[in-house]
Amino acid sequence: MRCPFCFEAETKVIDSRLVAEADQVRRRRECLSCSERFTTYEVAELLMPRIIKGDGTREPFNEDKLRFGILKALEKRPVDMESIEAAIAKIKHQLQATGEREIDARSVGERVMNTLRSLDHVAYVRFASVYRDFQDLDEFRREIDSLSADGSKND
Ligand SMILES: [Zn+2]
Repeated sequence: MRCPFCFEAETKVIDSRLVAEADQVRRRRECLSCSERFTTYEVAELLMPRIIKGDGTREPFNEDKLRFGILKALEKRPVDMESIEAAIAKIKHQLQATGEREIDARSVGERVMNTLRSLDHVAYVRFASVYRDFQDLDEFRREIDSLSADGSKND
């Protein structure tokens, strides 16, 4: 943490305390060079991992893109926005909880599929057919058969 007065890099913490009702730590610092004192606030930040695309390039996680994909799969399906937002929040939380700085786009797709599967089977199949480039039609059919076998309320 550089001193905001003289930009010296060496500062020392002279006081550190939790800020009430916020997940923040307030630190009082003193510059080792000019002796000015200043305050910093530290907040734990769970960062979204970057996405490793199929071709190996990286891109920042894009929530709009995730939402678009899910909404597209759920088009004209009887699922309310609240459930959809909850699903998106769940996926984001899972990605953060991995603690990884970078994560495979494929693994994100798997999480979306698992979430859709419990949300709406039709949306799941729509998404899966695009995302999981099924090796052959038989594999795809088996997947659909396994869904019907679940005897879901979505049928
Ligand atoms: Zn200073």
